[in-house]
Amino acid sequence: MEKILIKELEILEKELNKKDFEIVLECVNNYILNRNGVEMRRKCDKRCCPVCSTRLKIQEYKKILKKLEEYNSILFLTLNGKNLTENYEKELKKIKSQFNKIKKLKELDKITLGYVRVVEIKGDNGIFKPHIHTILVVKDGYKMIWSRQKTGIKEIRKKIEKKWGEYNGNGEKNLTDLRAVGKTKKDKENLVRYLTGNLEKQMFNMNESEIRAYLKTVKGTNRVYSYGGVMRNKKRLKKVQKL
Ligand SMILES: [Zn+2]
Repeated sequence: MEKILIKELEILEKELNKKDFEIVLECVNNYILNRNGVEMRRKCDKRCCPVCSTRLKIQEYKKILKKLEEYNSILFLTLNGKNLTENYEKELKKIKSQFNKIKKLKELDKITLGYVRVVEIKGDNGIFKPHIHTILVVKDGYKMIWSRQKTGIKEIRKKIEKKWGEYNGNGEKNLTDLRAVGKTKKDKENLVRYLTGNLEKQMFNMNESEIRAYLKTVKGTNRVYSYGGVMRNKKRLKKVQKL
């Protein structure tokens, strides 16, 4: 374990600024001391820290799962970006704005109450693939709304694939996926576990490319999670509903 951490620290030293690296280094040192019986000191809570990142993600997903307990109708949308070797920041910005266009399609816009968007970059052998997972909390009568729009999930899947293809324009197929999530607690847990599973490759197990890709999503202005609608303004909405 320590050997892997030391290798990761070498990569982080190149990728992070000096101040951040020193904070992370101290946190990792504390962690190693703790494993050898010394009492754990304060953790750095930085997403780029191999010790803290997984704990933070699990906390975030527990928070999301708790919020989802209040809702019965949930859709899960996945949008894959292009394979990249550089220009991540530009591409991340682009796919986020494309995501907003997809979200505003009338078939989704009319039914959506709120969303959680997760941006990730998968990295392998110097090729990086950004993708967006979105949990859409939708109105319970969404299927009726769709039938009034004379459409259904299959047609909407096709439309999303086509639109996303137009925005991305690289001719790849099956870049998108839309599916309904079951209503039970277990279904929701499975959904969140699926998202956690994607992230299960903790920084302890990542290769160099993956660490670099991961850091691209957590550094600077690139937010990993984004909340909208009822998933963000829960209290305000409750007030409105009471009136
Ligand atoms: Zn830390």
